Amino acid sequence: MSGVLHANGTTLGRCMCIITGASKGFGRALANLVADYLKPGSVLLLVARSTLLLQQLKDELLQNLKDIQDVTIHCTAADLGTKDGVEITVDMARQQSLKEIDHVLLINNAASLGDISPFENFTDLDRVNSYLALNISSVLALTAGVLQAFPPRAGLRWSVVNCSSTFAVQPLPSWVLYCTAKAAREMMFKVLAAENPNVKVLSYSPGPMDTEMQEDIRRLTGIQYHLHPCHESATKLMRLLLDNDFATGSQIDFFQL
Ligand code: NAP
Repeated sequence: MSGVLHANGTTLGRCMCIITGASKGFGRALANLVADYLKPGSVLLLVARSTLLLQQLKDELLQNLKDIQDVTIHCTAADLGTKDGVEITVDMARQQSLKEIDHVLLINNAASLGDISPFENFTDLDRVNSYLALNISSVLALTAGVLQAFPPRAGLRWSVVNCSSTFAVQPLPSWVLYCTAKAAREMMFKVLAAENPNVKVLSYSPGPMDTEMQEDIRRLTGIQYHLHPCHESATKLMRLLLDNDFATGSQIDFFQL
């Protein structure tokens, strides 16, 4: 796959790359693609709850990378909706911080659909907080933890991707949880972009993709979107990261590219 996006040999550098939600769907497609653009000495940290799926992905990647020396792949089985899950992931990232890295790339991809239900049904604070813990709070705490582990500075490329959605800006009846979380995440990363010029921030809406989340949407709502394969959207995101000429804090949609 190397060179497909960039014949001139552009890579992500000697990269510490963290992908949350790497076990399935878009995250898994991204992991496959990212691996082709890592320089020797890079570290790929794959995070999700499913140990088995992460291990299978790691085996697959190592098989494909067999000719490439010195790329370390770690699997972290963690529930990012919990304090422990975030801490385990940050600790794992911190353990890599003595390595000579020239690019930190954090892809905040993990998310859940949550209940699709009329607004007035969300009276249970625990139920609401549980959704927000994974879909908003963990994203802030994880990004902050990795920022502390790898302090941004001139000369160290630092990129953070927020997997967003058109529903960050478009209200959809009965989707209050999902829309609220995606909107909050966009503002979270706009603040980071405004605050820290050494961090390049991108909110990327990957478009409708053929994943388990879409299976859930179909089952719960009967809505069938026209779906794209994950690797098509992952390729567009990779091109953005390799070109690296997007403005920090920007929101870019699959359909704009
Ligand atoms: P998906 O198929 O449901 O996969 C979600 C990933 O997140 C899985 O790897 C899952 O792994 C992980 N995850 C879920 N809960 C977790 C938790 N508590 N802790 C850690 N990891 C957790 O989703 P997708 O469709 O690939 O979506 C990826 C991203 O794109 C999401 O941010 C989504 O909102 C966004 N998006 C998707 C679409 C679409 O059409 N699919 C459209 C627009 C935006 P485990 O189950 O192993 O934990």
